[in-house]
Amino acid sequence: MKLSIAFLFPVLILTACGQPVYQAKYSITVASEYVESFKVEAIANGRNLASVEHNLIIKLGHLPPGELGVCKQTAGQNMIVLSVDWWSLLPALEQQELVWHELGHCWLNRGHTNARLADDSPISIMNTYHFDAQTYWAHYDYYNAELFGN
Ligand SMILES: [Zn+2]
Repeated sequence: MKLSIAFLFPVLILTACGQPVYQAKYSITVASEYVESFKVEAIANGRNLASVEHNLIIKLGHLPPGELGVCKQTAGQNMIVLSVDWWSLLPALEQQELVWHELGHCWLNRGHTNARLADDSPISIMNTYHFDAQTYWAHYDYYNAELFGN
């Protein structure tokens, strides 16, 4: 597997009146491996992302306490912000779960669902709350089919 290195660029965008509206560290490569694996899994599950996969920005940024990620959709642009406070603390599988959850919002137009499976695991990674890697892995094939099948 190719090892990607995150390059962080400080970005400051000013409005016409000079007020900063946006100050963040951009990373054009953060989480890119999870975006690529999402595309592969989508295709394997018969989903065509060609009409939605353009104009994606993923960056690390500061989010409210307890929030791990967010998908912001504006006209023609999808932006995923991953919590800079949490990202490096998550094991790889949970990083994937988080990115795929946000791509579920941004690219699959999925909302949250908080129903449970018979064993009380979340019925979907589109659960409102992030859950642990052990649960994700225990139902990995199911969660992938559920994510892309809706
Ligand atoms: Zn969500």
